[in-house]
Amino acid sequence: MGAKIIDGKAFAAKLTARLAEVVQGLDTSITPPALAVVLVGEDAASEVYVRNKIRTTEACGMKSIEHRLPATTNQEELLDLITRLNNDDGVDGILVQLPLPPQIDADAVINAINPEKDVDGFHVVNVGRLGAGLPSLVPCTPFGSLMLLKDTLGDLSGLNAVIIGRSNIVGKPMAQLLLAENCTTTIAHSRSKDLPAIARSADIVVAAVGRPQMVKGDWVKPGAVVIDVGINRINTNNGKTRLVGDVDFDAIAPHAAAITPVPGGVGPMTIACLLRNTLLAASRRRHFDLPADFA
Ligand code: NAD
Repeated sequence: MGAKIIDGKAFAAKLTARLAEVVQGLDTSITPPALAVVLVGEDAASEVYVRNKIRTTEACGMKSIEHRLPATTNQEELLDLITRLNNDDGVDGILVQLPLPPQIDADAVINAINPEKDVDGFHVVNVGRLGAGLPSLVPCTPFGSLMLLKDTLGDLSGLNAVIIGRSNIVGKPMAQLLLAENCTTTIAHSRSKDLPAIARSADIVVAAVGRPQMVKGDWVKPGAVVIDVGINRINTNNGKTRLVGDVDFDAIAPHAAAITPVPGGVGPMTIACLLRNTLLAASRRRHFDLPADFA
């Protein structure tokens, strides 16, 4: 029997529809949550991400505020903008699209954002709060991955989870989230010894590496659940390109219990969770209540 294909696109569509419903149901005295997106330079992939974020923000009934700065922007100019957005009562969430041009220190910019408005969850205060088990704004891709895992498996307690990749954006926060769900959690990375054996011990494998189809069929034990965070563009035989994940989907799907496809798995969850964070940030900062499913 083959794996269940985890439909992240459908799950994200349900989540954004629910967000739209909640925003529409807010008291008329509450202005819609507002997300400010800052894009520096003209990176083609970033343009696509930002366009999608703006479109989905508006589809949810939230306000989108766009700031496009030239690639020559210096750090001081960007920090000035962040200060203005921090002080703007009409802004609930601030997202600075990464990567930033080389003259800008991305850590300094992220940590200049008011943690209450840090909807990417990258500020050290939110990183620390997540690690300490305190309410925080959680990075969107790992949170979306967790939602898919809980929807697939229910209670994760006691399961062995192996995360391949230790980035601040995906691997490390994913580990914190799985730990908080009472998984026995292992982070593997480029220096890990015998990665296939580590992965084979897992009930849950999360691949966040950025290497096309690195996780092979015999790295995943029968019945495991696989979350493929990777997005890699590869050349095909007919001269075209296609997107693949970090796992060898065709080799794993026949014996895994469930697996996310690429595209259509984790990717769509990231934007949905960004807007969930924007709504949460607005409710916490402006002190209004949300339904129980967003508490
Ligand atoms: P990153 O480059 O910051 O981190 C990659 C990690 O993989 C590192 O910790 C490194 O130690 C580990 N690694 C590298 N080579 C390895 C090897 N041979 N064996 C084991 N570990 C190895 O990447 P990231 O930002 O965490 O992104 C990972 C992937 O996820 C990329 O493909 C990226 O495009 C994708 N991504 C997708 C989304 C989404 O919305 N779906 C969001 C963020 C990232």
